Amino acid sequence: MEIKNYINGKFTAPASGEYLDNINPSMGKPYGKIPDSDGRDVAMAVSAAKMAFPEWSRTPRNKRGEYLVKIAEGIEAKLDFLAKAESKDNGKPVSLAKSIDIPRAAKNFRFYGTAIMHAHSQSHYMEEGAINYTLKQPIGVAGCISPWNLPLYLFSWKIAPALAAGNTVVAKPSEITPATAFLLSEICKEIGLPPGVLNIVHGLGQKVGQAITEHPEVPVISFTGGTLTGAGIAQTAAPMFKKLSLELGGKNPNIIFADCKFEDMLDTTLRSSFANQGQICLCGSRILVERSIYNRFKEAFVARTRELKVGPPNKEDSDLGAIVSRPHFEKIQSYINLAKEEGGSILTGGKAIKMSGEFKEGYYLEPTIIEGLDQACRTNQEEIFGPVVTLQAFDTEEEALAMANSTRFGLASTVWTQDLSRAHRMGEALHAGIVWVNTWLLRDLRTPFGGVKDSGMGREGGFEALDFFTEPKNICIKYR
Ligand code: NAP
Repeated sequence: MEIKNYINGKFTAPASGEYLDNINPSMGKPYGKIPDSDGRDVAMAVSAAKMAFPEWSRTPRNKRGEYLVKIAEGIEAKLDFLAKAESKDNGKPVSLAKSIDIPRAAKNFRFYGTAIMHAHSQSHYMEEGAINYTLKQPIGVAGCISPWNLPLYLFSWKIAPALAAGNTVVAKPSEITPATAFLLSEICKEIGLPPGVLNIVHGLGQKVGQAITEHPEVPVISFTGGTLTGAGIAQTAAPMFKKLSLELGGKNPNIIFADCKFEDMLDTTLRSSFANQGQICLCGSRILVERSIYNRFKEAFVARTRELKVGPPNKEDSDLGAIVSRPHFEKIQSYINLAKEEGGSILTGGKAIKMSGEFKEGYYLEPTIIEGLDQACRTNQEEIFGPVVTLQAFDTEEEALAMANSTRFGLASTVWTQDLSRAHRMGEALHAGIVWVNTWLLRDLRTPFGGVKDSGMGREGGFEALDFFTEPKNICIKYR
């Protein structure tokens, strides 16, 4: 696949003329090239987006919505192809890309393509003989920067509301997983999206991401990625008073009370621990279990984890595929070593797996369960973002809550209990933007999505995202 930038409706080579290797993590080998773009490409993309803004922002919302729905249809028509491309680029099983990533990307476009037709604003009547009404106006050129773990899914989660609200976009996918963003640009071309409305610039975060963040004509930035990167973006953007949405890292607790429906909890905990090789920001990496069922849970969970099949992502029966990149593979292994140094016992997993044949250089890791660690240790405080979970026992609800809330993060939490009052108490007290009770990853696109503390600021999802990508303006008219 020869990946190109998509600027002003054209497929373009990077200004530098340089390319980076695009690695297939299941084989540990390059399989293509991606543009090593820089500030010059970003400047061209911003100027194209600026030129396209007046007309796009004045295009009636139903017409903008129609374009987005056409993009959704374009994605759906290429489901198999896109799922295979996502799997090859990212290492995730094709089955996962086909059932979750790609359908969800299409849903994001359809959701915002239709949501914009239902968006409303406010009007306030005053007895003095005046009326106020609030315009929600698109802001201009939106910068959208996304990570590698759910490439097209998260890319579309930003682009769709930004475009629906009437902004034009300069977007950067992760350099590690650029393929489906490039294929999206082909779909945009096919459906006739006007030039300059969406521009996609490929390349490194330090160059392309930084140039988008620094650009004075990009007044609004939606970023998903690591907490440290987010902090850097906030520092760059703050003096320019840019509007920012930051969706950052997590260290999510999965809290299991003794009165839970055990089998449901076990099935879901297996997914919430290891889906996408544990590389979902919402995965529950700290499993807290009420002491009276700790041993029963541990035995069953370890047994079920050992049954999971790690294999090439293109094989139908692989439950886990490859880790996304060599540096990330090494980072996860370093955390497994740290856990041992901190006194943890590996109950299962902990090792890299060598596949055979063409997959022998791929980055495969066993799903790993660790116990015996204190809540305060680094393994239980820092985000690992891989197929690694820890187990800890608790005695009371208060203790579970204190453990759950004891990290710098606050993205998502899961609670397993049949006690309705306790579910509400926990929901209220957990430091998290999202709390799931007796389920995980059940998403209604109308709901707010995001985190507290070091997990970020702002919310995506539903009308929250449309609000984020618009600026409210109150107009007060005196008529008496
Ligand atoms: P990352 O290293 O922070 O990168 C995220 C994006 O930012 C990538 O496109 C990256 O480009 C770019 N970037 C890097 N440096 C930049 C800079 N100085 N200025 C602007 N952009 C820059 O994160 P990642 O490793 O891709 O993703 C994993 C992280 O994302 C985890 O912490 C995970 O929890 C978090 N995440 C959060 C959510 C959420 O909704 N809260 C969802 C998914 C993932 P390159 O990759 O091309 O260098």
